[in-house]
Amino acid sequence: MSLRRRTLLKVIVVGDSGVGKTSLMNQYVHKKFSQQYKATIGSDFVTKELQIDDRLVTLQIWDTAGQERFQSLGVAFYRGADCCVLVYDVNVMRSFDTLDNWHEEFLKQANPPDPSSFPFILLGNKIDIDGGNSRVVSEKKAREWCAAKGNIPYFETSAKEDHNVDAAFLSIARTAMANE
Ligand code: GDP
Ligand code: MG
Repeated sequence: MSLRRRTLLKVIVVGDSGVGKTSLMNQYVHKKFSQQYKATIGSDFVTKELQIDDRLVTLQIWDTAGQERFQSLGVAFYRGADCCVLVYDVNVMRSFDTLDNWHEEFLKQANPPDPSSFPFILLGNKIDIDGGNSRVVSEKKAREWCAAKGNIPYFETSAKEDHNVDAAFLSIARTAMANE
């Protein structure tokens, strides 16, 4: 099978500060995890190549440099997004409660032609903490939110233990590709 088709997909990652967005990307792209909290990074995006069926896909994954604290990520961040990854921390209720805002803000800023079919995906991160004993958002509750938003795919992840990170991003790529 020849790899004739090449696809560039812009993936943006949003959610409250501290939920693990940068860590998930680092784990996925560089296979690295750091306990240290670094609010800023050098570049706007990182890229990862993968093969899906007969296509070579380049994921261009956009991170924030801490601006998410003010919910002002700017037009350039949202422009041309093929998929939006929403991230919350299963141990922090507020980060789940603000998902509605992130979802709405995305639709407002990116303004996709068909909002109801735009590919979102939700990641519930940090499931490793305290062996799951400190989680405050149940999987059921998260899945109900996803169902209410039009069946958004849901993954529970740990950037620290590299749990479900590859699977989540593969699903993200497939979801975004299906919308091309
Ligand atoms: P961001 O602000 O959303 O980009 O969050 P960061 O990726 O900077 O992560 C914030 C903090 O949470 C850092 O100290 C990370 O080491 C930590 N962290 C991120 N993901 C996980 C995880 O899955 N498990 C645990 N235990 N800590 C995590
Ligand atoms: Mg970050």
